[in-house]
Amino acid sequence: MGAPETDKLTGPRATTSLVSRASPLASGAQQRQALQRLDLSDFKVKLSPATLDIFQINVGKLCNMTCRHCHVDAGPDRRDEMMSRATMDLCLAALDRTAVSTVDITGGAPELNPHFRYLVEQCVSRGKRVIDRCNLTVLLTGPCRDLPAWFAERGVEIVCSLPHYRKRNTDLQRGDGTFEKSIEALKRLNGLGYGQGNPRLRLVLMHNPAGAYLAGDQVSMEREWKEGLKANYGVSFDALIALNNMPISRFLEWLEASGNLQAYMETLVNAYNPGTVAGLMCRNTLSVSWDGRLYDCDFNQMLELDARYLGGEAAHIRDFDPARLAARSIVTARHCFGCTAGAGSSCGGAIA
Ligand code: SF4
Ligand code: SF4
Repeated sequence: MGAPETDKLTGPRATTSLVSRASPLASGAQQRQALQRLDLSDFKVKLSPATLDIFQINVGKLCNMTCRHCHVDAGPDRRDEMMSRATMDLCLAALDRTAVSTVDITGGAPELNPHFRYLVEQCVSRGKRVIDRCNLTVLLTGPCRDLPAWFAERGVEIVCSLPHYRKRNTDLQRGDGTFEKSIEALKRLNGLGYGQGNPRLRLVLMHNPAGAYLAGDQVSMEREWKEGLKANYGVSFDALIALNNMPISRFLEWLEASGNLQAYMETLVNAYNPGTVAGLMCRNTLSVSWDGRLYDCDFNQMLELDARYLGGEAAHIRDFDPARLAARSIVTARHCFGCTAGAGSSCGGAIA
């Protein structure tokens, strides 16, 4: 393939899950091989866990949307991968054996898991900071319409993905009509007091680029977004976090199909910033998948790179052993360049 025509997401805006299309890239192993085939440096940094502070629980891959950049390959068809209440209880039992401060609940659209409210309620009752990673549009769907008020009563922090404060860039990644729905959901959250500086009602927006380039400067973007959303839509929020697109799942598919994969990976490698290493989320976070398997991060989860105890045995929440997990090595590969490029990228945004 020659030079790519553009490094921006183009083409049809709607997509479907890799699984529904029986794409080879639905497999984590195939994704890893696609990156390994490239003529590129390997990620050689050795990472070890710091103090465990965050449980990131991925409650399933079901989502009301099918965004083109999705690293989870989520969508309306992913009904089979859904965390059961029994697995949630194992997560809670594990949580009780740690000093973890934060439970970060993600998906898919985590709100679509039938036991989602149970999990939130249990974590709130344990005094944990609870984060819901929300795509905004789900809050307008039938069973979730009362969730904003329910969240507000419990002080749940909402981290919302909104690719851009301009309609065109958001709809390009997430599908036509997404931006208007997102603004409506944000207005509802604002109406309940979210996004006005109250630490109990914290509203964070999460940006990722609409193409094969690094996220911009988080501080200046936050300023620009705050002004833009306020002036154009009367919407406010507390903070913006900017994430690089990870070269996995559906974004990897687009990178390959558009001829951007090699150049994007070179961009990531060339932008390697050693100052990001201490703050990588895999160091203080443990990622739990819908079926209870444990991973160093949500990205490793999607690539099927299990967290492993020193003996090589894959870790599972049912035999959660904090001391043995603290002694493990974090599993890395070339996708890790996505976290260490530029200002760095994690579920909490820029690192350095
Ligand atoms: S990026 Fe988020 S909202 Fe979009 S399909 Fe994936 S999980 Fe759903
Ligand atoms: S993908 Fe990022 S968070 Fe995950 S192991 Fe690699 S560096 Fe750590």
